[in-house]
Amino acid sequence: MRIDVVSIFPDYLAPLDLSLVGKARQTGLLDLRVHDLRDWTTDRHRTVDDTPFGGGAGMVMRPDVWGRALDDVLEEGAHLIVPTPSGEPFTQRHAERLAQEQHLVLACGRYEGIDARVAEHYRSHGQVTELSIGDYVLNGGEVAALVVVEAVARLLPGVVGNPASLVEESHGAAGLLEYPVYTKPPVWDGLEVPDVLLSGHHARIARWRRDTALVRTAQRRPDLVAALDPADLDAQDLRV
Ligand code: SAM
Repeated sequence: MRIDVVSIFPDYLAPLDLSLVGKARQTGLLDLRVHDLRDWTTDRHRTVDDTPFGGGAGMVMRPDVWGRALDDVLEEGAHLIVPTPSGEPFTQRHAERLAQEQHLVLACGRYEGIDARVAEHYRSHGQVTELSIGDYVLNGGEVAALVVVEAVARLLPGVVGNPASLVEESHGAAGLLEYPVYTKPPVWDGLEVPDVLLSGHHARIARWRRDTALVRTAQRRPDLVAALDPADLDAQDLRV
C-alpha cells in the first residue's frame, strides 16, 4: 500500500519511522511518503493561508496551494482522506475498508481548516472522505493522520507479526470490547489473576473471556451492546 501525508509540519509525522509502521516501511510493506505543503507555495513567504471570507477569527488554508499539492500527489484511483472534527467519526470499519485500498492521501489541515472547495473539487474526481478522530478539536490534522495511518497499517498483511492477535480485539467482528488480559506474575500487589486463566481448560477460558467482554462492553459502551445482532448471542450470553 502507498500512503502520502501532506502537512506544513512534516516533522510531526516522524513517529511513523518507529515500531511496526517503521518496520513495514523498511520492509516495503508500506510505501509511506510525507510532504511539506509549503513546497507547493509560489510566494517568497511560502504562504499557505489567508483570512476567512465572511470575517471571523483565524486563518483558512488556501485552496490553490492545496490544489497544486494534491494534483501532484493524488494518482488515479487514490482515496483522499481529510481529517476534520466535522468529519464522519473514524472507526475500525473505516480502517478495515481503507486497508483494502492501494493508495491513500491524507491532507492535514491547520488553523481554521482547509477551504471547503478542496474536498468538493476532489470529490468530483475521485474518493474523498472527511474523518474525525473524536469529538474534540486538535490544532492540526497531523495527529489524526498518525491515528489513521497506524490503524490502517496494522491491518496490512505482515505488519503485525501474529495475525491471530488482530482477531479478538476490541471493535472487531464480535462487536465487543476485549476481555481483560493478564500476564506473569500470577499475584501482583495482592491482586490475583483469575483462576480460570491458570486452569489450562480452553473451553472454560473462552467462555470466561466472552462473558467478561460482554460485561465490560455493557458497563463501558452500552451503545455497542445495543448494536449487537441478537442472532449472534447464545444462551449463556443472554444470562450474562
Ligand atoms: N475550525 C475547525 C472546526 O471547528 O471544525 C477546527 C480546525 S482545527 C483547529 C485545525 C485542523 O486540525 C483541522 O483542519 C483538522 O485537520 C485537524 N483536526 C482538529 N480536530 C480534529 C479531529 N477531531 N479529527 C480530525 N482532525 C482534526
